[in-house]
Amino acid sequence: MTIPDIAGGLPAIDHHSHASMARFRTVEQIERHFSTAHLEANVPAEVYDQYIGARNQGDTATLERLQAEHGTETLMQKGVEFRSTTFFSRALRDGSRALYGSEGDWDSLMERARDWGTREPCYAYDQAARVANTPVVLTDVPRIDRTLWDPKRYRQIMRIDGYVYPFHSGQTRALRGTEFQRFHAGFDAVLRAELARDGMDAPPPTFDAYIQFMDASLERRVREGVVGLKIASAYVRPIDFQPVDTAKAATTYEALAAGREVDRRPFEDFVVRRCAQYAADHKLPMQIHVGMGHPEPGMLVSNSGPLLLETFLNIRSLNRLQVTLLHGGYPFSSQVASLVQTYGNVFLDFSWMPYLHHFYLRQKLTEWLEILPANKLLYGSDAGAPEFHVAAAHHARQALNEVLSDGHRRGVWSGRQVEWLAQRVLWDNAADLYGIED
Ligand SMILES: [Zn+2]
Repeated sequence: MTIPDIAGGLPAIDHHSHASMARFRTVEQIERHFSTAHLEANVPAEVYDQYIGARNQGDTATLERLQAEHGTETLMQKGVEFRSTTFFSRALRDGSRALYGSEGDWDSLMERARDWGTREPCYAYDQAARVANTPVVLTDVPRIDRTLWDPKRYRQIMRIDGYVYPFHSGQTRALRGTEFQRFHAGFDAVLRAELARDGMDAPPPTFDAYIQFMDASLERRVREGVVGLKIASAYVRPIDFQPVDTAKAATTYEALAAGREVDRRPFEDFVVRRCAQYAADHKLPMQIHVGMGHPEPGMLVSNSGPLLLETFLNIRSLNRLQVTLLHGGYPFSSQVASLVQTYGNVFLDFSWMPYLHHFYLRQKLTEWLEILPANKLLYGSDAGAPEFHVAAAHHARQALNEVLSDGHRRGVWSGRQVEWLAQRVLWDNAADLYGIED
């Protein structure tokens, strides 16, 4: 039986990507980058830290020593081999073929990839967006070079996490892996860059001065073109943000500024709430990471559960904050839908899923489309690599085709509704949220 191509001709808005973030990587490097869990689980924790440090610095002498002493490279290769049956690996290859041309053998495609990697940084992603038919790509990156990246196509989403963790060392001995440290380092770099723009090399000593700085910095970034905010804090703490009064936040900040060890939560929660109120008042949608992280220990999956957000979502003054929950919240995908159907201002983005899940995405799309209103689902790629941008668009359209025509066959949706839903998921829902014109 042939499946009608409902979604194929439709342009899409990529609601969540990391275009311009990743430097060029070959397909093999991408696979290795996401295959570190096997190594981490088979060497002493310090050896793993050394390996990641040496890899990031391109320190081949140390990498060779670690291979000789601990077999790190052999373990990495095993990890890649074990991951070769994941849908991730399959999608990466599909995306490469679609992007670099289906003609020719793999080696000649990879030669083209390397050639594109030597061109200007936006070249490969521009090609990917053309192949994927995604005229608008929302991208979550600290900065975007507007002399290279077309502002009409690439619209910036800004993480607020930088403001949440001043005076945080970003270090931990308690956790495995490097994710916690890596995310904190990223948050800290953004905070420092913003402080530097105001002539500061460290957060100011008083709470009032910090809040003044933060408000002005937010305002400036939005003026410079940021179209939405994002919270990525699930990577470093539970997302159960609580209402906090200003006095409590102020004493916490000033204790931290004085170098005292206190519970940071009251200040963190205050900042999240303040940024959310800013977003609500300025009609900026707010993306929130929910669900699992990358395949490496460090983030606690239990910190990322969408139901942890219930208190935050119930704050009365935030009833018109447009919240998009990212990645379908795997493995809490039905929980996410329960929030999205309860709150008219909460939306469900299924970025990342199109290149991680084949079967599960079809199951969940069916479940979500049946239970949720037509304005709630948002397509996204979550791709930093252009190969995944292409793969995600292709596999999401395939999944929509199958799920919608199956629902039509089962009598759930009329032919007209099926077309309308495809159009809403791929374009209209994100266009309405972000005010994007055709
Ligand atoms: Zn992402």
